[in-house]
Amino acid sequence: MKTASVRPFPMSHVLSTYARFPVTLVRGEGSRVWDDAGKSYLDFCTGIAVCSLGHCPPRLVEAIREQAGTLLHVSNLYFTPQQEELARVIVEDHVKIPGKVFFANSGAEANDGLIKTARRFGHAKPQADGAPRYEVLSFTKSFHGRTLGGISATGQDKVKEGFDPLPQGFRHLPLNDLAALEAAIAPETAAILLEPVQGEGGVNVATPEFLRGVAALCKKHDLLLLLDEVQTGFGRCGQAMAWRALAAEIEPDAISWAKGMGGGFPIGAFWLSDRAIDDAGKALSSLMGPGSHGTTYGGNPLACTASLAVLAEIAEKDLNSNVLRQEQRIREQIASWELPVITEVRGIGLLLGVGIDATKFAVPEGKLPAAFVCGKMLEAGLLVPPAGPDTIRLLPPLNVSDAEIDEALSTFKAVLSSLS
Ligand SMILES: *Cc1c(COP(=O)(O)O)cnc(C)c1O
Repeated sequence: MKTASVRPFPMSHVLSTYARFPVTLVRGEGSRVWDDAGKSYLDFCTGIAVCSLGHCPPRLVEAIREQAGTLLHVSNLYFTPQQEELARVIVEDHVKIPGKVFFANSGAEANDGLIKTARRFGHAKPQADGAPRYEVLSFTKSFHGRTLGGISATGQDKVKEGFDPLPQGFRHLPLNDLAALEAAIAPETAAILLEPVQGEGGVNVATPEFLRGVAALCKKHDLLLLLDEVQTGFGRCGQAMAWRALAAEIEPDAISWAKGMGGGFPIGAFWLSDRAIDDAGKALSSLMGPGSHGTTYGGNPLACTASLAVLAEIAEKDLNSNVLRQEQRIREQIASWELPVITEVRGIGLLLGVGIDATKFAVPEGKLPAAFVCGKMLEAGLLVPPAGPDTIRLLPPLNVSDAEIDEALSTFKAVLSSLS
């Protein structure tokens, strides 16, 4: 097994909000990154599902370089062609349901946009007594970002500690339990928000029946169906959108994205359907009109150019096919090992979670099993992030090669075998 020397980099002036792995990365190319001592690593973390084309893909680098020398930023007070073109590509080629896009800079911001839309909807379609509806139902183990809106929607207590009072109007239900969800719908409920595949919370997949059931409940109770595709969207799950890989026929009302859509350049977005919300034909997307929302940086020409290059490369190289083929290869290889320490492989496409049985090896005190194993993988030359306490995520670039998958899996197997 290859081993790499790992050493920490003291960051005394950076706020210590992250427990970082002890390595300093300085360069990347394709599926690999290099540390400051010149050691290379296979990167199956990809900035947490961000670098969808790997590191420094020539097409993206060239597009950014050229746009940076032409026009970096103006303001949303003016039109720019890149923003309109990206919105058109997203609506026509990816969502394929008429609607409008708002550009933000991150996933949490995009989700705040969904939450604000739900509140506007609750005002436009109030309760029987005229009081606005406001509540958003989401799910335990979900993750929706770190703004106050994002942590309120997130179904994990650890992100909320010490930040109360939080914005009101959120409740969390167990994923894939339709009866519990239906029982929870109250007069004040306005929307249901979910990740088709929960990423941070452990790679938990919403079942097709559940997704169909949620969509039916939304119709029955006049609720908005909000999908958080921040981690799953734009090819990560082998389809333009993960919901289509699970239950293609359902029609969401709103979707948020970030992570992979910029390939490493920061950009987020949300889409609102043009569907009518009342008998007069008022479009849902019209609820967020002039003055309702804004951002200084969102949708600047540089970010939109970067995203256009990423989406064009995914489409032209048919990377969705590679994603599905590599998922199959990973599943087959891991199954063939028959390692007792591996409990299961969850997820779809190249958003895969490998469950590990922490009773099969010794975990140092104070460490979560998955984070401990990820540290061992790093020492062996493979970057992978944890997802929840006992799941290792595999998030290779969408254009990862057979040889790179084989190399990563051989390291993965060697590390897990040496533990148990
Ligand atoms: C990462 C993530 C977010 C937050 O995105 P940021 O860009 O970090 O704000 C929200 N939802 C999901 C599903 C995510 O994976």
